[in-house]
Amino acid sequence: MYQSPTLEQALKHHFGYDTFRLGQRQIIEQALLNRDLLIVMPTGGGKSLCFQLPALLKKGVTVVVSPLIALMQDQVEALRNNGVSATFLNSSLNAYQVRSREEALLQGKIKLLYVAPERLVSERFLPLLDLVHHKVGISAFAIDEAHCVSEWGHDFRPEYRQLKLLRQRYPDIPVSALTATATDRVRADIIQQLGLNQPNIHISSFNRTNLYYEVRSKTKSAYAELLELIRETDGSGIIYCLTRKKVDELTLKLQHEKIAALPYHAGLTDEERNQNQTRFIRDDVRVIVATIAFGMGINKPDVRFVVHFDLPRNIESYYQESGRAGRDGETSRCLLFYNFSDVKTIEWSINQKTDPQEQLIAKQQLRQMIDYAEGTVCRRTIQLGYFGERFAGNCGNCDNCRYPKPEQDWTIEAMKFLSCVARCKEKYGMGHIIDVLRGAKTQKIIQNGHDKLSTYGIGKDRGLDEWRMLGRSLLHKGFLEQTSDGYAVLKLNALSWEIMRRQRTVTVAIPVAQRVPLTDRDAKAAEVDLLLQKLRSLRKQIADAQSVAPYVIFSDSTLRLMAQSQPKSLLEFSKLSGVASHKVSQYGDQFLAAIRAYHQKQGLLEKKLNSTPSDELPIGTELQTLQLHQQGLSVAEIAKKRNLRPRTIIDHLCNLIEKKQPIDLNLLVSVEKQQKILQVLEILGDVPLTPIKEYLGDRYSFDEIRLVKITWRCRGKR
Ligand code: ADP
Ligand code: ZN
Repeated sequence: MYQSPTLEQALKHHFGYDTFRLGQRQIIEQALLNRDLLIVMPTGGGKSLCFQLPALLKKGVTVVVSPLIALMQDQVEALRNNGVSATFLNSSLNAYQVRSREEALLQGKIKLLYVAPERLVSERFLPLLDLVHHKVGISAFAIDEAHCVSEWGHDFRPEYRQLKLLRQRYPDIPVSALTATATDRVRADIIQQLGLNQPNIHISSFNRTNLYYEVRSKTKSAYAELLELIRETDGSGIIYCLTRKKVDELTLKLQHEKIAALPYHAGLTDEERNQNQTRFIRDDVRVIVATIAFGMGINKPDVRFVVHFDLPRNIESYYQESGRAGRDGETSRCLLFYNFSDVKTIEWSINQKTDPQEQLIAKQQLRQMIDYAEGTVCRRTIQLGYFGERFAGNCGNCDNCRYPKPEQDWTIEAMKFLSCVARCKEKYGMGHIIDVLRGAKTQKIIQNGHDKLSTYGIGKDRGLDEWRMLGRSLLHKGFLEQTSDGYAVLKLNALSWEIMRRQRTVTVAIPVAQRVPLTDRDAKAAEVDLLLQKLRSLRKQIADAQSVAPYVIFSDSTLRLMAQSQPKSLLEFSKLSGVASHKVSQYGDQFLAAIRAYHQKQGLLEKKLNSTPSDELPIGTELQTLQLHQQGLSVAEIAKKRNLRPRTIIDHLCNLIEKKQPIDLNLLVSVEKQQKILQVLEILGDVPLTPIKEYLGDRYSFDEIRLVKITWRCRGKR
């Protein structure tokens, strides 16, 4: 058994990380005991480390099965950059390269060997494997993307089925299977198909806490909103569209706006696709516009946003596609644009299916997707619920949690709507009912004499979208029915009549305009931004010289740590999370030099700036308050100690915040209250304290609101 400090030390030495992610340590301990393992973690959970670290600690070579050439190459490059002897064998190599790699393998110089499944089980390869087993030992087999073995999964690959042969041929070598697939059926299939022997099963939560989920209605301004999002976000993004045509159109439009974007879809040649993918991974372009053909095999950890410009077919695809954001654990954004005509398009394509069973499933999945898009509860609760994971809700990191939609009384509108359904004798769909309400002059209306109905034109005061929203809300709440025979005819039920008899009220959640900055840029973040840009371009330069992706050199989070802590020596540098021993010697000097150069330039700049009064400095009495605050004293305690009124201390604290001094707001106002106050500020804007307090109620004091408001204002929000 490895002692605890040793595993952590090994982690730091080889990979540069200080702590294990949830579950990793336990899994690695099991792997070192030669247990079979089934590891289910969401994308970005940190699966690779679970077989890579044991591979380095055990004798012999670990054989990794990986389905795609691109994936293998990425992982091997990343490992080599950490000084780990890893290699791959696949069809991209010539005979000479293959031979020299095989030799290295037999000489025991390789710790991790990546191979494609079909090669591994081929008649030609198995004898070599026997030889490796005999001469240097095989420490484990790791089957990556193990769901490919299952027909129930989304990427079934027949060649994965033959992997069972490994268990038969090498009964004593432990097998680890890894996947991000969430369904029980696939998990059971993996165990059975690979012949895992009483495996230890690790299933992590599928909650990706670093992702912000948001749904917006796809209105005329959607494209402008998309553009704004791309412009205000720092880093790469993926935009998914339903069709090739839309991909091409959107790419052109973005390119026209001088945004470095490339398309990806099945209509391009293999070469074009590979090229575009590589340019995206290497940060030559920021944005890839793609159909769902793009995804599997994209290991890029620093995708900062995934936008669905069209509605996905089901929640599972949405989870997997949006999940390509933020693998590295950094804040990232997932935005879905939604409108009802997308639903119509998908419905139409479902109706083309010939198998009624398939049709039924697809319709049900679409229904769930609509519920997600239109829902007013926590988005995470819906997503995780879909995978059978219970989530208490109120995640604080989705639009519905951060900006709850106010409910408005729409009983009168509902009565108009429902009586119009009644007058039309429950024979029409929503579009026609709304036409009648809004007094349209369609042929259908004239023909049926619906312009003579008492409900004709009584809804002119509301727009088409508003009526649709109400109609769908009535359907959702069960106040109205809809036939599911493909015609979607509206039908009344007992609850509809209760509403028309005024026995029941109807409220509707009104969407609020959301303008959420992706990252809360505080003053400090703005300061390090400049240095970060410098470090990024150095990273890109080094990466290009090696023909690898920039993240292989250092991740975004490591770079940010570097910009924040600004190390002055190799020792300080080596302590940053993400800096493995190998990387200290490899890149330390270059990055330290860049940081030094930045300092010198800043020093000169500051001298210049200080000659003109810019930011005010705190005065003596404020500094005393600051000191006591930093010792953790409350406002009352500071007031008592300094023999001043609490109000004066609050004044000091507010001034200190304005002067950008390190005030810890969390010590003054609970996080929960802060969030609520911020929500209200986003809605009301920069108004006096009284209306804000009226909105929030008695539980909130003026002082609390004032402190949060000043902080909010200093962050530069409107
Ligand atoms: P998965 O295969 O589960 O999608 P990866 O193995 O690619 O995830 O890991 C995702 C990211 O998290 C990678 O950038 C990896 O370097 C990083 N990572 C893994 N383990 C840790 C850890 N213990 N501390 C910090 N970062 C980690
Ligand atoms: Zn939420």
